[in-house]
Amino acid sequence: MNEIQLHDKHFELFISSEEILTKVAALAKKIEADYEGKEILFLSILNGSFMFTSDLLKNIQKQLEVSFIKVSSYSGTSTTGRVDELIGLATSITDKHIIVVEDIVDTGITIDKVITLLNASNPASISVCTFLYKPSAFKGNSVPQYVGFEIPNKFVVGYGLDYNQLGRNLAALYQLKETN
Ligand code: 5GP
Ligand code: MG
Repeated sequence: MNEIQLHDKHFELFISSEEILTKVAALAKKIEADYEGKEILFLSILNGSFMFTSDLLKNIQKQLEVSFIKVSSYSGTSTTGRVDELIGLATSITDKHIIVVEDIVDTGITIDKVITLLNASNPASISVCTFLYKPSAFKGNSVPQYVGFEIPNKFVVGYGLDYNQLGRNLAALYQLKETN
């Protein structure tokens, strides 16, 4: 499938499934080496990172923990404005080595919020492993330590990422076609 349609938009193949799996396996080996002798708690940010997390962790041959969380932004009182919270963090992260697993770091706003919220619980360390990174869109503080692919500032779908909830199940990554 070189071209797909989701809702009203057309997308073309950008990164093949084979290329993705090769890169994800290499990332896993790098993490394994960097965290030798340390226990890791992976915190996977739903929904987008479910497929990346699964393939990444299957390639890590050591004991590890994984938990799935969501970032929710709700409106507090009119004086406080938006409030962010992490949903689903059941285990204690204090004194643990945390690797946050993201689908994509774009502006970096989401990952900055997640790190600020996690730091409040005093983990031993936090690093970020993201499948995709758009350096030209990034305005955040936390540059991801582990990156699958650096991509240009164009909208992509597949491998967990959606366009209005469709496309998450695609095994390859697709890019929005400019001429629709
Ligand atoms: P941030 O801008 O905070 O780094 O990223 C916010 C969210 O925007 C990401 O978690 C992701 O859900 C969404 N996002 C950013 N760029 C893309 C993209 O190219 N495709 C898709 N499907 N989602 C994106
Ligand atoms: Mg996301």
